[in-house]
Amino acid sequence: MDIVLLGPPGSGKGTQANALIAARGMVQLSTGDMLRDARNSGTALGKRVAAIMDAGELVTDEIVNSLIGEKLASGDGFGFIFDGFPRTLAQADALSHLLEEHGRKLDAVIELVIDPEELVARIENRVSCPNCGAVYNLRAAPPVRDGYCDYCPDARLVKRGDDNAESLKTRLLEYYRKTSPLIGYYYKSGALARVDGDKNVESVSAEIAEILDRISK
Ligand code: AMP
Repeated sequence: MDIVLLGPPGSGKGTQANALIAARGMVQLSTGDMLRDARNSGTALGKRVAAIMDAGELVTDEIVNSLIGEKLASGDGFGFIFDGFPRTLAQADALSHLLEEHGRKLDAVIELVIDPEELVARIENRVSCPNCGAVYNLRAAPPVRDGYCDYCPDARLVKRGDDNAESLKTRLLEYYRKTSPLIGYYYKSGALARVDGDKNVESVSAEIAEILDRISK
């Protein structure tokens, strides 16, 4: 089963992807994580995208489509979770072609619907572990030991470079301008399922599980 998690920054896509990995052994394909890895390892691609990411703008369709194309060609995951991809209509078309090429199809697009004010509060309080990627919310779900990861005791939690007020404004604008048209696109294709992303993590996971169980019958 292959699914897309669709929603603005801070809507909980990464957190819900982690829950799906743990519960169903699915494989997360996050273009944001791939681009951050490229930056951290100092590749030519990483250098090309750094300033764009810091500004909160979208990198080109060509770059992210080829990242996803490489992953699909190299792995035969039991089920993929596309997280942060697609973000434009051109990316949605590319995904549909790529899946077809590999004999797969999109089973569901789960939209995490959330109040924009809640997004800002979540992102301002978001920190993550540079080692294992665990995400914490300093207000709603803080780590046990202040400043350190619960799973990697020596790892100090860090804030993402683009989790600041200025970049966030651009990221939200990019989402509403370029990504939100995908809601109509996937509604039309019959793949769209909407979930109330304002609820707590467990309730959202339960709603998603119900949707996936229903469509896999
Ligand atoms: P994310 O971790 O998904 O919030 O992505 C972080 C940043 O990476 C975004 O603000 C964009 O600059 C870039 N990015 C990630 N995924 C995409 C995508 N599908 N299309 C264009 N840019 C992307």
